[in-house]
Amino acid sequence: MGHVDSGNDGAARRRDAAVRAAVRQGIVTADRPVVGLLDVPGIRAAAAALHRAFAQVSAPGTDVLHAFAVKAAPLVPVLRLLAEEGLGAEVASPGELALARAAGVPPARTVLDSPAKTPAELREALALGVAVNADSREELVRLDGLLDDGPLASVPPLGLRVNPQVGGGSISALSTATPTSKFGVPLRDEGAREWLVRAYAERPWLTRIHAHVGSQGCPLELMAAGVRAVYELAEEVNEHVGARRVRSLDIGGGLPVNFASDDVTPTHAAYARLLAEAVPGLFDGRYGLVTEFGRSLLAKSGMVLARVEYAKSAGGRRIAVTHAGAQVAVRTVFAPEAWPLRVAVYDAWGRPKDGAPESQDVAGPCCFAGDLIATGRSLPRLEAGDHVALLDTGAYYFSNHFAYNTLPRPGVYGYAEHQRMEGATGTPSVDVRFVPVRPPQSLDELVAESGGAHAVGLTALR
Ligand SMILES: *Cc1c(COP(=O)(O)O)cnc(C)c1O
Repeated sequence: MGHVDSGNDGAARRRDAAVRAAVRQGIVTADRPVVGLLDVPGIRAAAAALHRAFAQVSAPGTDVLHAFAVKAAPLVPVLRLLAEEGLGAEVASPGELALARAAGVPPARTVLDSPAKTPAELREALALGVAVNADSREELVRLDGLLDDGPLASVPPLGLRVNPQVGGGSISALSTATPTSKFGVPLRDEGAREWLVRAYAERPWLTRIHAHVGSQGCPLELMAAGVRAVYELAEEVNEHVGARRVRSLDIGGGLPVNFASDDVTPTHAAYARLLAEAVPGLFDGRYGLVTEFGRSLLAKSGMVLARVEYAKSAGGRRIAVTHAGAQVAVRTVFAPEAWPLRVAVYDAWGRPKDGAPESQDVAGPCCFAGDLIATGRSLPRLEAGDHVALLDTGAYYFSNHFAYNTLPRPGVYGYAEHQRMEGATGTPSVDVRFVPVRPPQSLDELVAESGGAHAVGLTALR
């Protein structure tokens, strides 16, 4: 499935060129032994493929907003790049909203979700014109109060998140449509459907229904069943009201990512086709659509590149001690079954290593025994000074930093290949250009965020 438009030809070649250039240009060094790298053309291609996927199944003129889930890559330059590619932003905290604004994402292309919005957050969103999806009956009542408070110049799209209760996927922490999920108004609880229809009927400003069935680990059929359930609710509301009360459907994100190879599978196109089969009315132009993909847009365009500091052996096992561990790959280290990563290996010059594979552990720098990225992995023998690349880490790995051992958040750089004219002869050659996305955290910043300004504070108390 998905090979036709998997769109990742040359990903491995681009990656190898980037690693070689990162070593040669001093992006990764002995003193800066771990960095994040983002494949900018890869991100652009993923965004374009998402637009195409939905355009291909939607009636002409259908209003579709692809709002990138900021938590997957909370980096201002990434949000700006995606905005340039025609995406908006899905935010779930004041911090994420601030990042979207700093990136220049217009409020009209921003969607605020989150199960715990404060009155101040709601007020700010309404004042800015940011769309809001209320998470609960309780939050809807809060919106009632805010809208009663005073007239707004214009009311942004306001919706209610519904939990279609279609069931969970293979990773329970990421399954949001279980019967008892903390998210949304449960659709199948007793009396819920009637309450929902009435809630929409009573509120002319409540014009959107939102659902996000889950993330990594959810089968596409389950996601489609969730979308079908909210579509049917929208039809019922509109039938009951006798007008187009629900004008748009926000179908969330959650497309899983293949962490086992460079193939992009499933594709956004495959998901869009499945939705078109399962819920044909979704795309006939009567509803505006919002999507909130995160992982599937960024994962395959990022890597964590780290030096091997030491190669040792213990109990007959080879262990490469690298600078990439729990501080950058917290989910992989603490839940290795759910979040395995491919590890690519390069020598001290950044060239792919191709020696005979040996079973090795790839360890991180943190001071606890479980700080392992891979155990018993078959890889060409790693030596001190080599490099490892943790692949498919463009989504969530730059947001899930873990401050253990006061290890700094690494710098993140974007890269792209460009043509360069060589010397006097002017022969063109391809080089890789890096631009900073996020600076590495400095020691001063680490001290400051660890209370450096309050050093004597506690000594004042007895
Ligand atoms: C996390 C989240 C997303 C994005 O999920 P992905 O699996 O990264 O696509 C979208 N919408 C909501 C409400 C979320 O919580």
